[in-house]
Parts: sequence; structure tokens; C-alpha cells
Amino acid sequence: MADNSKYIFVTGGVTSSLGKGIIAASIAKLIQARGFKVTIQKLDPYINIDPGTLNPYEHGECYVTDDGAETDLDLGHYERFLNVPTSQANNVTTGRIYQNVIEKERRGDFLGKTVQIIPHITDEIKERVKILGNTGDYDFVVTEIGGTVGDIESLPYIEAVRQMKWELGSNCIVVHLTLIPYLAASGELKTKPTQHSVKKLLEDGVQPDILVCRTEHDLSEEQKNKIAQFCNVDRASVIEAKDAASIYEVPLLMEEEKLDEVVLKKLGIDTFPKSRMETWKNFLRKLYNPKEKVRIALVGKYVELKDAYLSIAESFIHAGVHNNCEVDVSWIHSESISKDNASKILKDYDGVLVAPGFGERGVEGKISTIKFVRENDIPFLGICLGMQCAVIEFSRNVLNLKNANTTEIDPNSENPVISIMEDQKDIEEMGGTMRLGKYNCALSKGSKISEIYGSDLIAERHRHRYEFNNIYLQDFENAGMQATGINPENDLVEIIELKDHPWFVGVQFHPEYSSTVEKPHPLFVSFINAAVKQKKGKKELAASNS
Ligand code: GLN
Repeated sequence: MADNSKYIFVTGGVTSSLGKGIIAASIAKLIQARGFKVTIQKLDPYINIDPGTLNPYEHGECYVTDDGAETDLDLGHYERFLNVPTSQANNVTTGRIYQNVIEKERRGDFLGKTVQIIPHITDEIKERVKILGNTGDYDFVVTEIGGTVGDIESLPYIEAVRQMKWELGSNCIVVHLTLIPYLAASGELKTKPTQHSVKKLLEDGVQPDILVCRTEHDLSEEQKNKIAQFCNVDRASVIEAKDAASIYEVPLLMEEEKLDEVVLKKLGIDTFPKSRMETWKNFLRKLYNPKEKVRIALVGKYVELKDAYLSIAESFIHAGVHNNCEVDVSWIHSESISKDNASKILKDYDGVLVAPGFGERGVEGKISTIKFVRENDIPFLGICLGMQCAVIEFSRNVLNLKNANTTEIDPNSENPVISIMEDQKDIEEMGGTMRLGKYNCALSKGSKISEIYGSDLIAERHRHRYEFNNIYLQDFENAGMQATGINPENDLVEIIELKDHPWFVGVQFHPEYSSTVEKPHPLFVSFINAAVKQKKGKKELAASNS
């Protein structure tokens, strides 16, 4: 069936933050569970070429794909739900669309024509959607349109959707996600904002086929009929989406509401295989019935906004389920930690993760954190800047290297234990210029890390400029910090671990980008397992002391 892909657009109305990404991912998951091949794409209406240059406070985490694309965090949800990698083609912004059209104009591709939003920008948008369908790899392409219907910047996208619906007929549908607000004062659910948002879509020439209605309370039959009648859809196409305790419950709630069946039927597929969601249901059962609980401190500088470390938080959930345990994460601001209070703040945790990041703010707090967990045998996972801080801490406090630092913070450091790569030195532009995407890493035989991965060669995703400075490697190894993962192509150190510590691992790459519900990441699984052991050890010690 793959040579004739079907297209499902997901739009949003009434307000932002309704969870369009999760609904898009849930639709895709349910269709995948019926044996079809699906991919999900996000079109973002902002002018940045990609979110790589955006401050995490603005837009949350920047998610990196295997091919090194810096993308919207919703792509992380897509991979975590579908367990299928995404790529640059799965995330397109208005900036990239315009950049392409302008490049074509400069090349003379438009043969002297006036270049306009319609048809040139809309054609480019349609092309970006069809690229995925034209690969022949997918039966369905789900395309999430960022933003809210009615926004000025969404207009070219909605027009592209209108044209695709007109061109493809029953091979293209629109699922519109809206909100049914509850007015506490009158105790009522209100359908009017949904009606208005659908009217807006209709004004732009798009009749949504299915409405997914976010609500805090059950919708009555009467309300569903009313929504159907005034929004011009059939009753079966009004889907109730109640708030869920976990995003991973949403596909199952949508299955109960028969969203996947309605989608398939609207696309002309009347008979389809039975849904196979057993693994998913099992995951959820374990998620809601943990046997124990560990406490993990996540030390970073963007802790006010949980989306800044979204993939890490989700990786903890996956790894927790795998260990039958709840992972209770405390988000601790690295600026609040110093060498004087590290013990007080951190001593009760069963494990500490030091987060990735850029720039100077909070780095000394991360270093104090690491000194404390290293000296007190608390399981530690350092990711990217977190690994670099572990190297700096060790060089200052064990190797006694004066003023050791990363050249990102101190370009004139006497001991630049982390420094910029040769091929990065002359780069001046910020966008897309880091070491990005998947790189191979050879693991030392007999190391903890090769046991964790069960392999000698792995490939993980990167997003950074600075690297371990190999001039110091021998000193580190002699003192007990070993480089157990090396890039076989260029000898860069990708993993460090401590010999005499229960669990102390730093990784230059980002394992959190590739943890999924079906394949929790081995590093997170092992780290949580170490935290469980740490907790047991503490309990036994307390019992023997009492
Ligand atoms: N700022 C560091 C670098 O560029 C680490 C980046 C990160 O943690 N993603 O190398």
C-alpha cells in the first residue's frame, strides 16, 4: 500500500499547549499497532531555520535526530511512541521554507515570475509534506501543524492543507484538536470556543473531518451531538480526550474512543488488522504499579521549565518502568549548589544526573555536585556538559591541575582539559555548526559501559562544540578516570567512568534522545538499577546501625 500514502493533518484550535504532538503521536501509534507503516512530521510556523538557536526557556529542549537535525521537542515524542527514527525531513519551519524558496529565486528557478506566498510558499510546504509520502516507505504520513488556527503565521500552512485535501480527496483528512473549557462558577462545559475555531478553519476553506476535544470532565451525549451539528462533522467524529495522568495513557484513551478506527474509515480503509497494543498496555500497567521508588536529583540550569530536559525526564520514566520502580526526580538549580551546601542538598538522593548545557551560568554548582557524589559513592550520570564538568572536577581535585576548565568558559585556562575541536575553531555562525547527530563509539572490553550496552560498538547522538583534551588522557587514566568509549574515526573521548566508584559515568553524547517506550536506553536502565541498589544499601546500613 506504501506507494499511495495517505495524509493526516493535525491542527489545533482555541489555545496552544493542548498536546497536539501527543495526539498526533497517539494516532500514529494506534495505526502502527494495526500493522501499517507510519511517520510523523511537524511543521513549525516560526522564522528560525530550526530550533537549534532558540533558548530552551523559549521553546523547551532542542531534540536531535540521527542525521543531526536540530528539531522541535515533539519529534522526541514521535520517536518515543513509534520507536522509529525521524530525520530532518520530519521537522520544517517557516524559516526553512522561505530560505528554500528564496534560494530557488536567486538561482532563477522561477523563470522571471513574481514569487508569492501563494503559490510558491504553499507549493514548498506541500512538497515538504509529500517528500515523506514519496519515499514509498510509509502508508500514512501524519503532519502536525504547529501554532493555533487563526494565527497569522499559520495561514500559508492551512492553505496548503486546503489544497492537499482538494487534490487528494479521501486520501487526506484533517483532525482538529480543540478545548472544551469548564467554567467552575457555573459548573458548565462550554462548546462555543470549539465552534468558533472550526468556523475559522471553514473561513480558510478547510472542513475538519474529526474533532478531538480536550476536556477536564466527561462530555454528555447532548454536548457531543451539539458539537457535531454545529461543527459540521458526524457524531462518531467527535472524540473526547479527557486529561490523562501520563502522556503514555493517551493512545489507550484514544483507542477506547475509537479514534484510529474513525481515522482509517475516513481514509477509505474499512477493514484493518486487530490492534496490537499489548506491549504498550504492559508498560502502562507497570508505570502505574511501581514496586518501589528511587529519588534522583537532576542538576541543571533550566530547571524552572521542565520541557528544557524533556527527553531526560521521559528516559527516567522508561528506565523506571523497566526496573519496576517509580523515579521521583527533583529538579535542582545548579546555581543553588556550592561546595558548602552540596552535602545538605544532595545526601538523600539515590542518584544524581548532571544535565547538558551551554555557557558559564551554574557550572561551578555542577562541579561541586560532582565532587560530592564522587567522594560519597552516589550513582552519577553526566550528560554532555555534565560529563565535561566531571572531567573538570577530577582534574582540579584529583589531578591537582590548577584552574582546570573548559575553554568554553575560560579560553585562557592554564589547563584546558575540555577544549574546542580544531575544525570548530574558525566557525563564527551559531546555527547548525556543532558536532551534531549520530557518531560511532568503540567501548573498551571489560568496562562497565560495554557490559551495560552488551556491545563493543555503539552509535549515539551528539550536540556540542567542546571535547575532552587528549593531551591529558594518560594522567586521567593513571588516576582512575578511564576513557571507556572512544570515537574510532578520530580518537575523541566519548565516555568516561571511574574505576573505584559504584556507578560513575559521563557521556559526551545524549543517550536521552534515543530512549523509547519499547526500548528504554540501557544507560538510564543501568543508572536507575544502581540507584535502587544504592537505596537498598542505605536501608541495610541504617538497619545495622539501629
Ligand atoms: N557547552 C558544551 C559544548 O558545547 C556542552 C553542550 C551540551 O551539553 N549539549 O561542548
